[in-house]
Amino acid sequence: MTALPSPLSLRGVTLTYPDGDGRLTALDSVDLDVPAGSLTAVVGPSGSGKSSLLAVAATLVPPDSGSVVVAGTDTGRLDRAGRAALRRDRIGIVFQQPNLLPSLTAVEQLQVMADLAGRRPREARARALELLDAVGLADRADRRPHQLSGGQRQRVNIARALMNDPAVLLVDEPTSALDHERGAAVLDLLVRLTRARSTATVLVTHDLAHLERMDRTVRMADGRLSADAVTGAEG
Ligand code: ADP
Ligand code: MG
Repeated sequence: MTALPSPLSLRGVTLTYPDGDGRLTALDSVDLDVPAGSLTAVVGPSGSGKSSLLAVAATLVPPDSGSVVVAGTDTGRLDRAGRAALRRDRIGIVFQQPNLLPSLTAVEQLQVMADLAGRRPREARARALELLDAVGLADRADRRPHQLSGGQRQRVNIARALMNDPAVLLVDEPTSALDHERGAAVLDLLVRLTRARSTATVLVTHDLAHLERMDRTVRMADGRLSADAVTGAEG
């Protein structure tokens, strides 16, 4: 039996930024494979390259060298439009701040994603309602962002990222604006959705209390990724 290729695979990924006269190495020869239906947590100090890792995996920033393969597509071969289409169709992105559109209701936030992908409005609405139900917001579908709590807004954000059925789900510190209890609920939700939707999920988190629920934890330090499990090793 051969294993299926991982929906997300990084090989020898190096990313530098201009820094004065030289270059700052944000990612240094990073290798990472994330199987479908599994969640990899990324921990590490501020400035170690965690967000850069997600930006490269999201095809938002092309690396200096190395390969990023998403859902079987070598993203280095794509032009800007190709990368945008891949992001729209195969990658769900959840950033720290939900960035919801103030004038739209929860269900409309999700429907916009389907409009962009050219789906039929009626199908899109049904799917949006199903996803809001999956994140526990069935009864909040017609609320606008200002009528939702911080935790509820982050749930809408997560549901929106899943709207086009992504193979890869990339999440950057989703609990940093939430209290401990709401943060734990959001992490639980991400674990559950990863299993239910078979996404290859990467979660950058400061929240070391819940790492035992992840399939794997990796650590970033100075742009280098160590595959050593750190679960439970944090003091
Ligand atoms: P983390 O998410 O772990 O805090 P980042 O990936 O945001 O780390 O940053 C890694 C390093 O790259 C840091 O030294 C940061 O200052 C630098 N960096 C990040 N984004 C940029 C950018 N757009 N331009 C220049 N330097 C950047
Ligand atoms: Mg960051």
